[in-house]
Amino acid sequence: MSSENVPAAPTNFIRQIIDQDLKTGKNGSRVATRFPPEPNGYLHIGHAKSICLNFGIARDYNGSCNLRYDDTNPAKEDVEYVDSIERDVKWLGFEWTNKYYASDYFEALYQYAVELVKAGKAFVCDLNAEQMREHRGTLTQPGRPSPFRERPVQENLDLLEKMRRGLFEDGARTLRAKIDMASPNINLRDPVLYRIKKVHHHRTGDKWCIYPMYDYAHSISDALERITHSICTLEFEDHRPLYDWCLDQLQVPAHPQQIEFSRLNISYTMMSKRKLLELVQDRHVTGWDDPRMPTIIGFRRRGYTPEAIRDFADRIGVTKKENCIDVEQLESCIREDLDRRAPRAMVVIRPLKVVIDNYPEGQVEEFEGPNHPSNPEMGSRKVPFSKVIYIEQEDFVETPQPKFFRLAPGKEVRLRFAYFIKCESVVKDATGAITEVHCTYDPASRGGNSPDGRKVKGTIHWVSAAHAVPAEIRLYDRLFTTEVPGQTGDYLKELNSGSLETLKGYVEPSLATVAPEARYQFERLGYFCADMKDHAPGHLAFNRTVTLRDSWAKIKA
Ligand code: ATP
Ligand code: MG
Repeated sequence: MSSENVPAAPTNFIRQIIDQDLKTGKNGSRVATRFPPEPNGYLHIGHAKSICLNFGIARDYNGSCNLRYDDTNPAKEDVEYVDSIERDVKWLGFEWTNKYYASDYFEALYQYAVELVKAGKAFVCDLNAEQMREHRGTLTQPGRPSPFRERPVQENLDLLEKMRRGLFEDGARTLRAKIDMASPNINLRDPVLYRIKKVHHHRTGDKWCIYPMYDYAHSISDALERITHSICTLEFEDHRPLYDWCLDQLQVPAHPQQIEFSRLNISYTMMSKRKLLELVQDRHVTGWDDPRMPTIIGFRRRGYTPEAIRDFADRIGVTKKENCIDVEQLESCIREDLDRRAPRAMVVIRPLKVVIDNYPEGQVEEFEGPNHPSNPEMGSRKVPFSKVIYIEQEDFVETPQPKFFRLAPGKEVRLRFAYFIKCESVVKDATGAITEVHCTYDPASRGGNSPDGRKVKGTIHWVSAAHAVPAEIRLYDRLFTTEVPGQTGDYLKELNSGSLETLKGYVEPSLATVAPEARYQFERLGYFCADMKDHAPGHLAFNRTVTLRDSWAKIKA
């Protein structure tokens, strides 16, 4: 962890195991974890849970955490993903002790395979995928041994070497562990350790045409790095006996303990990389970094802070129970963080022109707007005011309900920081739509204070038309309409067609020069951030990160 004054994360059952191991002096009192992503997509918020867990343990126990690319499946992997993973882990606030690739170990893994063969613990099998399936048996029926299971060691060694040299076609042969075809755990029924795949690898090029399977590569990689606690998600629980088997057969430097925890699921959110890739490829979103995506880069572009994501990871905790976290929990983490940190600004996203008839033509006043209501250290900025302003369309109603306290004909409202104004008349176009509202202001209410004790219930935000800067405003909603996308069928049918609304708004002039990724609370509208990619001087673009929960409008209106 880069920052030193980060408090330790709350304890959980994994930390308790580590505490116990430290007490008994296991692993020589070392704590070593790793985060092992497959570079076949961008990291998502589920990975963030695993990152916070693994790197957080290293941070709090003065241990180490490696970043290891599980790059054993070259067909789907790419350097683009490798680069994005590093950037995202760093952005979350973590630093790896060492960076490794499973492919760094290809030679070692091969030599270990030779060892297994020599010990009679692995054999080359000529069954094809379908035949292998037939032999495997089911949950209720034991499998049948492969006819090649008793191949002599020398023949196996010879065939394995020929596999490596590329003398066989893809899928023609595999190297399999010799364990137990009758095991109730199907993972132990002579699992495949190596397959032939004549594909280019993004790091090893064409050097290899056999690639190790995940369980085999993973256990040995962990051991070679002398990981102490190999933390993974629950679906690997049934693989743990195989993980242990591999390490038990071989002379490896360590035997890490695999510990499983439950995956993060979030309502209205989908987290499978395969499906996220589909969304990208079929252009349902603009890319992996679309602010609607549950990817780390998507959240970043949306305006989330690393602090909020880490806080979320701490709050949801780590258990073995499958569950689905309400997306509102994540939203409340970012709200809390931004409420504290984001300066305030006035922005009108659906402009309605208001002319203040009795305000002197050409006059400009500047009001001092505090940047934060409860943190004076954040300073203030000047907000210009003039005769023509924009207000939000929804802050004006021609025939209001009884409890409507914003602007309406004959009604008075407070302009934040400025004056009381009263609506005198409206101008409509040929279709009857209101194009302009005419008001008068009370000069004695300067600063928004009542001159004579008369009450004005509504306070609305505004921008000066002559000074405001046009900006593209993107309002995001959930990407999916269903709580658990894809549960009942095609997840594409559950895409929310209204997940993005783009508006042409006006921002106060102090925002004209803000940098990409700057975060603000637009008063009464929510938290926004300047887009990472599209925002530039002359073309302002802001993304709504999240709405305000107890929106000011609701309380005061
Ligand atoms: P996906 O199924 O989304 O493609 P994956 O598990 O295949 O994810 P990996 O790149 O293999 O993705 O994952 C790297 C690490 O992140 C693994 O240790 C994995 O267990 C963990 N991880 C992945 N998804 C989640 C999740 N939703 N919650 C917690 N940890 C996760
Ligand atoms: Mg995976």
